Amino acid sequence: MQNKMNLLRDLQEIDQEISSIETTRKDYSDELDTFEADATRVQAMLDQLNGEVDQLQQAEAELQQGLLKERDNVTRVEARLPEIQTQKEYVAVLKEIDIAKKSNKDVEEQMQAKQQEVAALEEDLQEKQDELAAIQEKSEARGAELKKLLDESEKVLLKRTKTRESVAAELPVSLLRKYHTLFKRRGGLALALARNGACLGCNMQLPPQQYNKLLQVVEIQTCPHCNRILYADTEKS
Ligand SMILES: [Zn+2]
Repeated sequence: MQNKMNLLRDLQEIDQEISSIETTRKDYSDELDTFEADATRVQAMLDQLNGEVDQLQQAEAELQQGLLKERDNVTRVEARLPEIQTQKEYVAVLKEIDIAKKSNKDVEEQMQAKQQEVAALEEDLQEKQDELAAIQEKSEARGAELKKLLDESEKVLLKRTKTRESVAAELPVSLLRKYHTLFKRRGGLALALARNGACLGCNMQLPPQQYNKLLQVVEIQTCPHCNRILYADTEKS
């Protein structure tokens, strides 16, 4: 009986350690994921900005093409001026030239606006590229550290799991099952120390008769209040 209790106490100690290793490992993984998520987020912004710059540059190129064509037209019409015979036609052609020139000026202004937009976006792009580089630099250094920590903790975890298996193998299945259920439901504390007639798992007084029985270590006792498996305040032997 005492042996079973000692094994259970060993098991709980190992399980608590395993559970703490698992929590730490989850933190490491989460931190690694955060780097990836951050990089993905900034990269998405970069892609979007690049797309916007492309669109603006394309629109600017189209405007430029139209402008060149229109300037050609003006030159051609102007070349016709000396050959014009009637005053009426002359006025009409001058008006045509004037309208074309005004329209060209409009287009030039539109192009300038696009160029300014592109310049602003390029500033944003530079900022995001710097941000991404900073994330990557940090993630490279810390990422290598985290991967090392994950590897090391995995080795410890494997070792503890093996020890755990060998301890568990010595305990009756029904008792193990009870222990597991309690370990899960009672926040990693399936066994509770009983001292001065009280369960230290829930700090409630135990019936005196039960406490006496517990001290004799003849059978498994559970706390009537929190259900934890009780062990007496004796040195493990
Ligand atoms: Zn209790």
